[in-house]
Amino acid sequence: MSEDAATLKLNIKALIVFRAVFVTLLLGSSFLLKAGYEKFPYAHALSYLIISLYALTIVYSLLFERIKNLVSFAYTQLVLDVILSIILIFITGGIDSWFSFTLVLTVISSSIVLNKRAGYIIATLSSILYGVLINLQFHSLLPLSSGGIAEMKDYLYNIFIHIVSFYLTAYLSGYLSSRLEKTTQKLEEKDSSLRDLEFFNKEVIESLPGGLFTTDIYGKVLIFNRAAEKITGVQKDSIMGRRIDEALPFFEFPFVVGRREKTIKVYGAQKVIGFTISALRDISEKDTGFIGIFQDLTQLKRLEAEMKQKEKWAAIGELSANISHEIRNPLASLKGSIEILKEDTIPHSKRRKLMDIALKEMERLNGIITDFLTYSRPTAPEFKRVELHGILDETLEILRNIEQNKGNISIKKDYSGNLEVNVDPLKMRQVFWNLGLNAVEAMPEGGELIVSTISSDSAVEITFKDSGTGIKEKDIEKIFYPFFTTKEHGTGLGLAIAYRIIEEHEGMLHVNSSPGVGTIFKVILLKTDGKP
Ligand code: ADP
Ligand code: MG
Repeated sequence: MSEDAATLKLNIKALIVFRAVFVTLLLGSSFLLKAGYEKFPYAHALSYLIISLYALTIVYSLLFERIKNLVSFAYTQLVLDVILSIILIFITGGIDSWFSFTLVLTVISSSIVLNKRAGYIIATLSSILYGVLINLQFHSLLPLSSGGIAEMKDYLYNIFIHIVSFYLTAYLSGYLSSRLEKTTQKLEEKDSSLRDLEFFNKEVIESLPGGLFTTDIYGKVLIFNRAAEKITGVQKDSIMGRRIDEALPFFEFPFVVGRREKTIKVYGAQKVIGFTISALRDISEKDTGFIGIFQDLTQLKRLEAEMKQKEKWAAIGELSANISHEIRNPLASLKGSIEILKEDTIPHSKRRKLMDIALKEMERLNGIITDFLTYSRPTAPEFKRVELHGILDETLEILRNIEQNKGNISIKKDYSGNLEVNVDPLKMRQVFWNLGLNAVEAMPEGGELIVSTISSDSAVEITFKDSGTGIKEKDIEKIFYPFFTTKEHGTGLGLAIAYRIIEEHEGMLHVNSSPGVGTIFKVILLKTDGKP
């Protein structure tokens, strides 16, 4: 059934009930009290009228559920009401009757039950029938109660005010009921769009893949979506309206606003949950509560750990391969030397040479292992306040005298400022040595190494600039990897060690190189208190 039909049905029901109440109260009381009875010309007819009204009420009630055309049903009742009112007016004295207002009531009823138009129709019918009744009375075709003959103009005036009042009533009640109808309609529209909005919000929130909750400012849970239930294992019903930490101690209240990660136990299994809590504000920017969104990161974390483990194994594998390679080369030449030495026939001078080679290879092996240990098992730095110029001087002095330097390399200093910093002096010496040695090794045909320093309030900078071979562009990103080397006897650990040490000192190691022109390595250390 449509909404209009439902309303009409309700209205008709109200009309039937109202009529019954009216009959009982007004006519019943007048019948019992016999008020004005002596004046009613057909007083005895009143009881028949009451009975027939009650009978009609019963008939209407019985028909009520069966009738399909509710509008005609309503019209029938209203028209009958007008006729019965006219009869009532007639038997209670016509022009002298106290009951002409029942016609007014019927007009009001029609515009309420049906509409404005029905109001006018019933007003017209009432006017006609009432006019006819009073006219008949005037022409003495119907008896008068008081017996006094009123004048023509009294009759006309009576008819006139009644007709005016019927139409006025139809107009006013029609106006009011159409207003009411419009307001109701608007309210209903608003209500339904509100319901749509609510539905939409709910669906979106419920369908979100991430957990979502909102609370008021006291931490009482207002929304807890499906994903939230799934992630936490807490049922919505058991948490709604309660303070969140009572049901889920995992979320501490008062909340710490921002992003965090925590572990939670759900049905015996540990879960890593990442969550963000922020303040919930209304349009006027007033805090009304909190909103929390969260995600189950367990799977992600597991994958991450697996990846890390795999990377570790890969790195170990690569490292082992490189070490074996590095160690096998000197071992091979050692073996070769000793095998030749075993033969008695070699001349003394050659024997000596071979022994030198063997010793050198052993030294190299030792060097590789020392380097490797320095790289793979770094000791904790022991910070001391030192002036780095002293350490630099010592390093450069040794570099001047090593065999790789065939005397055609000039080593220059360009110092400025004070390099007093908090560092591990032994480790810094290692860094300078590795950079310096690389520079010298990059200039087999000779060249120039300039070591310059600058210092500011916050940092010191030590630069090694050589005029050597330079580094190929494709190699630049690899030079800090352990075992990356382009040298026949290199270990590829020098820069890796230097990089690690600088990292331990929270400093920076930059490189800038042009093949064929030279290379610049720059060490930057911060002059912070306590630390470097
Ligand atoms: P190694 O010296 O044993 O080769 P390093 O880690 O010290 O190992 O250096 C790695 C590589 O970086 C060198 O093999 C070389 O190719 C390159 N490199 C380092 N310093 C310089 C430099 N000053 N000039 C040119 N190439 C350099
Ligand atoms: Mg080196």
